Amino acid sequence: MFDKVLIANRGEIALRIHRACREMGIHTVAVHSTADADAMHVRLADEAVCIGPPPARDSYLNIPAIIAAAEITGTDAIHPGYGFLSENERFASIVEAHGLTFIGPTADHIRLMGDKIAARETVKKLGLPVVPGSDGAIRTEEEAIACAQEIGYPVLVKAAAGGGGRGMKVANSAEELRAALAHARYEAREGFGDDTVYLEKYLAQPRHIEMQILADQHGNAVHFGERDCSLQRRHQKLVEEAPSPALNASSREELGRMATEAIANLGYRGVGTIEFLYENGRFYFIEMNTRLQVEHPVTEMITGVDLVREQIRVAAGAPLGYSQADITVNGHAIECRINAENPRTFAPSPGRVVDYHPPGGLGVRVDSGLYAGYTVQPYYDSLVAKLIVHGRNRNECLMRLRRCLDEFFIDGIDTTIDLHRLLVEDPDFANGLYDIHWLEQFVAGLAEPATE
Ligand code: ADP
Repeated sequence: MFDKVLIANRGEIALRIHRACREMGIHTVAVHSTADADAMHVRLADEAVCIGPPPARDSYLNIPAIIAAAEITGTDAIHPGYGFLSENERFASIVEAHGLTFIGPTADHIRLMGDKIAARETVKKLGLPVVPGSDGAIRTEEEAIACAQEIGYPVLVKAAAGGGGRGMKVANSAEELRAALAHARYEAREGFGDDTVYLEKYLAQPRHIEMQILADQHGNAVHFGERDCSLQRRHQKLVEEAPSPALNASSREELGRMATEAIANLGYRGVGTIEFLYENGRFYFIEMNTRLQVEHPVTEMITGVDLVREQIRVAAGAPLGYSQADITVNGHAIECRINAENPRTFAPSPGRVVDYHPPGGLGVRVDSGLYAGYTVQPYYDSLVAKLIVHGRNRNECLMRLRRCLDEFFIDGIDTTIDLHRLLVEDPDFANGLYDIHWLEQFVAGLAEPATE
């Protein structure tokens, strides 16, 4: 097992990884920008190294600085968390080339799944159903129009290198498709430095359902059930729950079997998530994330498994040591992502946290680096806390979630807690009746922001 792990991330996930390491008896090294010198993960880590100024490209994305920090501190392995360098194949290879372990899959698997066109082709061969769409990249407008006629409008233009909901554009007609192509290409070039795009049928009312998988380096693969992440704004998840209210035992089993077989055949190692859209009883692969996800705690709450611990164990070469039959799902869990944003306009709200009181009690988990006196920085993602609640069933979970949102108090900055409070009172949400478009409509239906 590793003696020392460097955590190449910040915020709640850096703290989350530190906690797993500490419980495993592993020493931690925090790296941080000058803006994060007072962050909780920096305070708690055994060692901390400043790796650069606030902009992420100069610090959390600064590969030479991170490698130097690892060498100076005598680190054995690097955990990339999510975002930043977690799906950067070059980083993974550089880490390994320096004799360190990258806590994640191989650089080859990161590359394969990072290109959504290659990922589609790969999983198709492995027997997973994909959303109807183009065979590979779309080169010309004519090619796009011919393909759209075949699959039928509306269609979605997607960037092969896309992520975070960017580089995606819907088209309802040939005319709209021309504009969507140009728009998606532009966004992809600006955001990812690669303007390769492809087409998918735009599904009207799907749910987003994803499978959490884990594989060791000895050919064993398991899944930990699904998460329903349909509650999204601008293709970004806001609330996640597990199990999905939309699946029954047989569809759940079918999805789990498909995902685990695909992973085993791929020779994948580490944790990963296979994302699907689910409509009219059918699953369609959309992408695979080759890293730990923001919403992993909902799975931990219903399975009792520490996924970060498992991730570290398999990265160190340990065999899983258990089989699918040993993994049982217990009750229901829901996660609310709490962002430092105005709950109506979604404008970022950095600043000093004057007072902080998180909820507690049975079945309640808050993953956050916040404390009274902490200053939320303007340079990074606005996610500041995750409230994860567990109950013996969905109803108990919802009652507990309402209680926790009432208790949660963050003063000094705006947060999306108020939005979650409204959301949990909605009958559609309470009944689990929502698809990927539902939350946009819910937000649009809230009263216009007051003009003061
Ligand atoms: P990203 O990598 O940017 O997150 P994804 O491919 O995972 O992109 O898609 C993000 C979200 O966009 C999905 O969860 C879903 O809400 C929506 N989406 C993606 N593909 C389709 C599609 N073919 N039809 C309808 N919605 C889609």
